[in-house]
Amino acid sequence: MSMERKEILACPKCGHKQDFVIWQSLNGDIDPVAKQQLLDGELFNFKCEECGNISNVDYPILYHDMTHEAMIYYVDENSVEQAYQAMVGAENKIGIEMSGYRRRIVTKQNSLREKAIIFDYGLDDRVIEIIKLIYHTNANDQVSDVKIDDVYFLVSDDKYLLAFIGDKPLSVEVPVSLYDDIKKDFSERFNLMGDKEPIIDYSWALKLFSN
Ligand SMILES: [Zn+2]
Repeated sequence: MSMERKEILACPKCGHKQDFVIWQSLNGDIDPVAKQQLLDGELFNFKCEECGNISNVDYPILYHDMTHEAMIYYVDENSVEQAYQAMVGAENKIGIEMSGYRRRIVTKQNSLREKAIIFDYGLDDRVIEIIKLIYHTNANDQVSDVKIDDVYFLVSDDKYLLAFIGDKPLSVEVPVSLYDDIKKDFSERFNLMGDKEPIIDYSWALKLFSN
C-alpha cells in the first residue's frame, strides 16, 4: 500500500498556490504513474500551473518495489540511523516473509531514482556500484582536470548508461557483458556476505576493494 497526502504549496517564483502530492510511502506496483515519475526524475518536481516554473520539493519517502522485493528509504543525512532502526523494527514485526527483501537507505533524490531504476530492471545495485567505481577511477585518471561530483546509473533505450555529474557533464555506455562478468566474478563473495547492508554506495564499493 501507499501513503500519500495532499498539501497546498506556493510556487517559489510567482506565489501561485496549488495541490502537491507528498508520498510518505510509494508502492510502485500499486501506483505506477507515480513510480514512472520517480524513474523519470520528476516525482519531486513542483510544476506551477500558472507560470510553468519547476521547483524541487524535498521530503523523505519510502519506495517499495514488490515485484523485485526491494525497499528504498530516502531520508536526509541526519536521519539515516533513525531510518535504519525503523527498517530493522519493520523486519522484526513482519518476520520471515520479508527475508528475501533488499532494503536500502539513500540520502539523495538522485540516488533514490537510481536505485529504483536498478531494481526495476532486475539488476543488482552492488554490481552497479562496482562498475561506477571502476569508471569513476578511470575517468579521474584520464581526465584529471575535470571535477566529477557524482556518477549515476540509468537505462535509456535498453542501454546501460553512466551519467557523470560535474563541471563537464558526460555519459558513457556500459556494456551489458561487463555487468554480467562482474556479477559472475563477485557471486561467490556476495553469497558469503549476504545482502543486508542498507547503504550501497561509492564508499561501500571502495571498502569492498580495500578488504
Ligand atoms: Zn509560478
